[in-house]
Amino acid sequence: MSAVLDVRGVVKAFGENVVLRGVDLAVDEHRVVALIGGSGSGKSTLLRCASLLEVVDDGQVLLDGEDITDPRVDADAVRRRLGVVFQAYNLFPHLSVLDNVTLAPVRVHGRSRSEAREEALGLLERIGLADKSGEYPDRLSGGQQQRVAIARALAVRPRVLLLDEITSALDPELVGEVLRLVREVAEQGMTIVMATHEMGFAKQVADTVCFLDRGVVLESGPPDQVLGDPVEARTRQFLSRII
Ligand code: ADP
Ligand code: MG
Repeated sequence: MSAVLDVRGVVKAFGENVVLRGVDLAVDEHRVVALIGGSGSGKSTLLRCASLLEVVDDGQVLLDGEDITDPRVDADAVRRRLGVVFQAYNLFPHLSVLDNVTLAPVRVHGRSRSEAREEALGLLERIGLADKSGEYPDRLSGGQQQRVAIARALAVRPRVLLLDEITSALDPELVGEVLRLVREVAEQGMTIVMATHEMGFAKQVADTVCFLDRGVVLESGPPDQVLGDPVEARTRQFLSRII
């Protein structure tokens, strides 16, 4: 099986600070990879390199076999094939929920307004927020906003969904509804890479857990192994601090 997303030897520094020192990460289709690691270990930087929000210093990122880090590649065209959701402030505040979800499909993908609208309403229905389609984001709870952000990312029919600690900014009682949606999206076959501190969730939903440490993937494997019986002392140390 060839990987949908294949990160090969990626190096990324900010000035003197070498954050990624040769990261390898292959994500097969329909698989969920949970990216774990201490704060500052480079999880966001890795997701930003994979979504071309940062330029890598060395190594490659392949999307469906195509080297998207090649400078000759049209980065905008690549980004259209990715769905990205961050920790917070994902939605356009001046657009209704429905317009948030239809914006990219219409403006960037050239779909007809009616087709995009129909699909968006279907997505909002699926996430239980069809009745909020006319609301502005600030009228929604943080959990509802993140669910809309996921719907918006799905609206472009991405090859892979990149989620960066999307529940970290939420009140604890709102985390569950967002994780449930991610799980549903995963069960429907979406390929997902998610940086997360939710170890219980990673254990239940991820096929692979990758522990990022000091700029490399120190350990990766099935959740039961990496989270339950890690090989590396530093993985154990990290887990003992957060669980
Ligand atoms: P994580 O998401 O695992 O907490 P990050 O990828 O956000 O880690 O950060 C890893 C390191 O990279 C940190 O030391 C951070 O200060 C640094 N860093 C991230 N983005 C930038 C940037 N745009 N400019 C300078 N340093 C950055
Ligand atoms: Mg981060």
